[in-house]
Amino acid sequence: MDNLNRYGKKYLIPLASCLFTTGAKRALLCDLQRQRFMPVPMSLKDLVTDYKGKRIEEMYADYPEEEHQTLEEYLDFLLEGEYIFLSNTAADAERFIDLPLDFLPSGKIQNAIIDVDGQSSFDLHKIIAELISLDCIAIQVRSYRLMELEEILDITTATANSNCRNIEFIIPYSESIAGNSQLEEVFIVHQRIGSIICYDAPENRSDWYLGNQIRVDYTMQHLSDETHCGVFHLSYFSPNIPHFTEAQLHNTCLNQKISVDRFGQIKNCPGMATAYGDIKDTSLSSVVARSDFKKMWTIHKDEIRTCKDCEFRYICTDCRAYLEDPADDYSKPLKCGYDPHTASWEDWSKNPLKQSAILSYGFKFTAI
Ligand code: SF4
Ligand code: SF4
Repeated sequence: MDNLNRYGKKYLIPLASCLFTTGAKRALLCDLQRQRFMPVPMSLKDLVTDYKGKRIEEMYADYPEEEHQTLEEYLDFLLEGEYIFLSNTAADAERFIDLPLDFLPSGKIQNAIIDVDGQSSFDLHKIIAELISLDCIAIQVRSYRLMELEEILDITTATANSNCRNIEFIIPYSESIAGNSQLEEVFIVHQRIGSIICYDAPENRSDWYLGNQIRVDYTMQHLSDETHCGVFHLSYFSPNIPHFTEAQLHNTCLNQKISVDRFGQIKNCPGMATAYGDIKDTSLSSVVARSDFKKMWTIHKDEIRTCKDCEFRYICTDCRAYLEDPADDYSKPLKCGYDPHTASWEDWSKNPLKQSAILSYGFKFTAI
């Protein structure tokens, strides 16, 4: 009863950036400012929701005595984590407004993926020039053939004087990167390079440059084509305000994205089956103007089967390329092994119910 004695007359005010998401079995507490999250019992979420702006003594009066120990523990947890604060005045409850969850899409292309392999015959510079004219902010280049540092710098230089702020490269292991003692100087000149991921590396490791601004990851995994993408894992979640707000009504992978696959086909992402023309004779801007191209941009987690019951749905990314039911655009992502109804993870690739979809996509089981 320590908290009742100490704080009984005070009012409970949740922090605006600490939000609960209700799942089928439990809730998720997301601290969007400090970018952390944790599953919590539904009763903890109910406590904060029901007693927002009310006195602590009201809470204790409503709950039977045998549950007061749980109230003590919940309040300790909420106060120590700074998910709530206690105020002396009821007026504070009015002053601390809820975080607006509006996401204002620009309607423009924000990010792009370009895939290349040894057979790709399109002009990479022409695609970069088109993306620049679309004001694209982030570009990811994924290469399934050797791509040396010189080519990386050539692509990066092509974005000079543009709105592009970040270029990420996923490439096979290269000594021109791993054995380069001048990378810090290279990254000072080419600050648009946000990260480089080298697969087929002899070891798993990460190197940081420019005071943790640019990361080079080395992974022993092998990537052979676009089917590596779309894997779900707790470590891939994004508990931040832009992601959380975008997830309310937009797709967290495909919104405002355009891609060119290794064959030169323009798509929402290289893994999607539907193509909207060949980059050799179709402009990216003509594809962006098509309403059918933008259909994927607004398929969001509250509409997707199983995901709509999941407490992670506003911090999880989405995948519309590889689905449990390939014929249904609103099906759960195939490569997610989480079941929100049991709150448990399993190896998605071993689930017997997923085997026919796995066969239809023809995966090689590598992931990044
Ligand atoms: S839709 Fe899936 S495969 Fe395509 S980029 Fe997103 S996660 Fe990757
Ligand atoms: S069920 Fe859906 S929302 Fe939940 S972790 Fe899997 S893909 Fe993400």
